[in-house]
Amino acid sequence: MGLLGASLAACSDAAHRPNILVISVDTLRSDHLGCYGYPRATSPAIDAIAKQGTVFQNAWSSSSWTLPAHATMLTGLPVSAHAQCDWDLAATERFANHLPRGRYISEDLERAGYDTAGFYSCIYLEPKFGFGPGFQTWERAYHSVHSEPGIAERWDSARKAGDTEEMRRIHDENPALFDVEARSAPAAIDSALRWLGGRKSDADPFFLFVHVYDAHTPYTPPPPFDRFDPEYQGTIDGRRLGDADSPVHAGMDPRDLEHVIALYDGEIAAIDDVLERLFAELERSGAADDTLLILTSDHGEEFFEHGGKQHGGNLYRETLQVPLIVKWPGHMAAGARCATTTGLIDIAPTLRAAAGLDADKNLPGADLRELARGKSGPGSRRIVGELTIRRGPEPIWMATLIDGREQTIVRMPGSEGWSAERFDLVLDPRERAEPLHFDAASPQAARLLEDLDSTRSELHRLRERAPARGSRQASDGVVHAQERMALKALGYTGSRDAPVDADRLCLDGCIWRP
Ligand SMILES: [Zn+2]
Repeated sequence: MGLLGASLAACSDAAHRPNILVISVDTLRSDHLGCYGYPRATSPAIDAIAKQGTVFQNAWSSSSWTLPAHATMLTGLPVSAHAQCDWDLAATERFANHLPRGRYISEDLERAGYDTAGFYSCIYLEPKFGFGPGFQTWERAYHSVHSEPGIAERWDSARKAGDTEEMRRIHDENPALFDVEARSAPAAIDSALRWLGGRKSDADPFFLFVHVYDAHTPYTPPPPFDRFDPEYQGTIDGRRLGDADSPVHAGMDPRDLEHVIALYDGEIAAIDDVLERLFAELERSGAADDTLLILTSDHGEEFFEHGGKQHGGNLYRETLQVPLIVKWPGHMAAGARCATTTGLIDIAPTLRAAAGLDADKNLPGADLRELARGKSGPGSRRIVGELTIRRGPEPIWMATLIDGREQTIVRMPGSEGWSAERFDLVLDPRERAEPLHFDAASPQAARLLEDLDSTRSELHRLRERAPARGSRQASDGVVHAQERMALKALGYTGSRDAPVDADRLCLDGCIWRP
């Protein structure tokens, strides 16, 4: 391109608003994708997108489960600032610290003239958790006992009354609503394609958000995607990972664990195959060249690297690090890799910039296009992760700071003292070595506490400046995840949950305070 051509491109750049497509593949470890170096062919379609875009190799979520991470993805705020950190709406609504804050990027884009639509596949993205503002279409692509009008109310009142007969009846009448193996990705992609095809005009650009859930447990890939471990002769099948008597546990036979991982990989391959249809349609319609495409995940998945399975119980790299691939022809370098520390907090600022909106000074993230142009290397950016666990009798609060080449994880059980460990992400990217443990009396510990205090102040400031959203549409009962409901309906009692603590919610709990 000559000088004239270059300046024309720069001119049109300022006024032109691209289409935007954000794909969230729930529970997707980046290191299980070909474009992040995985040897198995789990992701040919995603890898092809990665070749045309920039791969952010060091991207982090804000938490290790669906609700808080998606709130960050769509508001640009860390967990303590948006306060979406607990599934129990009924118990948390009473406390001001738990009222959600922040503005969804969909609201900004709709105001900027975008046609907006989102298709989601999990209860935590339901409107009752606050999701959907700014989306002209916000549509579920999954079915559960919570999603069907009439049945959801019946279920809620039966559960509140402890009427197990009625719960069993609902289960028997509607077995499909309790089918945790039902696949949602094909339905989500079909809905998205229908929406794209049904747009009356291309005069305004679109913002399309698609969330697919099938890599989440159970790992039951359909043929031919169950192909990664054909030699296996054992009995483990990728189901019932959450059960108390699950055959998938820390002491299991390594060969069986290999098979579980192969099934998880099969789920990724099945999703990749479905995504390929969406990518192909964008190419066919000609929209691909004018679409900013971001593919990411809300969190990863553990396979006992640090003793745990699934996610939401830790903040180690395998659950907190996520894929982040950005393709925008002519704007993001193709085939590039960026090692700068980035996070889900950077998505909203990137979309604002692409849509020609001014930067929002109250968002802590940055435009990924700018970050990709900057120096490579872990850099000096700090990403904060937070997690409150209420699965046992006492809550556990965890926070992590990803700071350049270090990840520090702080853990504070309810009544015990705190502990912290630090990993060197450059020397030990998989966090396999023994971490640095902090002696509470050491100067290192004092510095860490100072760091946590300043992080907490910063989160406080972000929270104060974020617009309050008021009460969510709390149902009359406790909201449980689909799988737990299904288990309870069948007579399992489930685990005992620690009470919500009025004094140490979110901001005051996740971020440890002496
Ligand atoms: Zn998730």
